[in-house]
Amino acid sequence: MAETIIIGAGLAGLSAGYHARQMDLDYELYEAADAVGGCCRTVERDGFRFDCSGHLLHLKEPYFQGLVRELLAHNLNVISRNAVVYSHGRFTRYPFQANLFGLPGEVVKECLLEFVKSYHGSEDLPSRSYGTFYDWIVAKLGAGIGRHFMFPYNQKLWTVPTEEMTCEWLSEYVPKPNLDEVFNGAFEDQSKGFGYNASFWYPREGGIQALSDALAARVPNIRLGESVEAVDLDARCVRFASGKSASYRRLVSTMPLKRLVERLEGPVPADVRAASKRLRHNSVLIVNLGVKGGDLTDKHWIYLPEHSFTAYRVGVYTNFSKALAAPDTTSFYVEIGYQQGWNVDKDALVQKAVEEMVEIGLIRSLEDILVQEVIDLECAYVIYDRQHKESRKTILDFLAKHDVASIGRYGNWEYSGMEEAMLQGKEAVENGWNQSSAGLKSTG
Ligand SMILES: Cc1cc2nc3c(=O)[nH]c(=O)nc-3n(C[C@H](O)[C@H](O)[C@H](O)COP(=O)(O)OP(=O)(O)OC[C@H]3O[C@@H](n4cnc5c(N)ncnc54)[C@H](O)[C@@H]3O)c2cc1C
Repeated sequence: MAETIIIGAGLAGLSAGYHARQMDLDYELYEAADAVGGCCRTVERDGFRFDCSGHLLHLKEPYFQGLVRELLAHNLNVISRNAVVYSHGRFTRYPFQANLFGLPGEVVKECLLEFVKSYHGSEDLPSRSYGTFYDWIVAKLGAGIGRHFMFPYNQKLWTVPTEEMTCEWLSEYVPKPNLDEVFNGAFEDQSKGFGYNASFWYPREGGIQALSDALAARVPNIRLGESVEAVDLDARCVRFASGKSASYRRLVSTMPLKRLVERLEGPVPADVRAASKRLRHNSVLIVNLGVKGGDLTDKHWIYLPEHSFTAYRVGVYTNFSKALAAPDTTSFYVEIGYQQGWNVDKDALVQKAVEEMVEIGLIRSLEDILVQEVIDLECAYVIYDRQHKESRKTILDFLAKHDVASIGRYGNWEYSGMEEAMLQGKEAVENGWNQSSAGLKSTG
């Protein structure tokens, strides 16, 4: 019997293993896939290295900055963001709300007027005081910026209208410029970097897998190809698809919370099962493209808010690291949001999104595409609807009573990034086990 069993070798599970080892704790780590990394994986196809869409490090905590520097050493670049929005047939700087310069005059006028009205019409309340994300956008940015970017872009990404979303997840994720900044950005091509990802770190070589591999190299006891089928809470035993089973005193799970509840055996109250059914998420088709031509664009990523375009965002791997592909080629990711319940023709969506890359001018011709591969990410973004907070709390509190910590982007059922995953892995082994959902830090 292991003192601690960790499920999943994404960054949250790897970090739990790494910190357990630092503390000399007895643990075993089981991963369903045949490689470590979870969402932070990189695959090689005909000379192109593709991540699971853009995975850029924006680390706030000095501890994790130090750890990542130590893990990646010389293999780390610091990059200043060059992100744009494509709308009204032109490129403007990101974030849209601070960079109206370059948009058609009537759009700039509409956005400014509505911004000024909302600026003077509302108190500066914290985001949690707004009932919905829609209300927050109208109050903080104005309905014009809402109509031309925030409403359609967010609906394409999250797959639900902003009226259905709360503001729990917002924190630093959505830049909120002040009056001066909005006016400056409307009348001049200003280059101030706004938001949490104005600069970011990325491995010089090997894609984001370099980070997962460097962490995994310090975590003995990883068993790959072991998919958890059942967790018996009474017997404190995990059963795997391979037929194997393992007992634990404490369990750290990073698999999606919804899937964990489906696999629970033993006395699971009906309200926990019901809460799990209420958890919602979207899905994302990530189209990875390797293309002829090395000078197609200098942008890191491009937002596509208009509903006439299939994807919500396009990114350029080779502008993060030239080592991801051969010289004179470019690699892209194209992201399309959808829901499992929608009756969508995925092949048709992918085909249309790729054709639109030519229309926007990012690819010269469809014949230039050397490699095309689709990752269908079933659970991609957790949806913060009105039921999210309470449902998540019900489940996490129940699990905590059984010495189960469910952590990470999907384990903790939240919108968060790589740093939060590593932080939660660290906290899960360091902070003991009687942790309720309130004790787990969510930065999403
Ligand atoms: C499209 C997209 C773009 C992103 N971009 C960024 C970015 O730019 N910057 C950033 O900081 N973050 C980004 N993120 C978030 C980042 O990927 C996650 O926060 C982080 O990788 C989550 O790590 P995790 O360990 O919590 O989860 P995961 O990476 O999902 O790891 C969970 C692991 O559990 C395993 N598992 C699942 N079920 C079982 C089972 N039954 N048995 C055994 N193992 C199982 C899985 O195979 C997986 O390896 C992005 C996420 C997405 C989806």
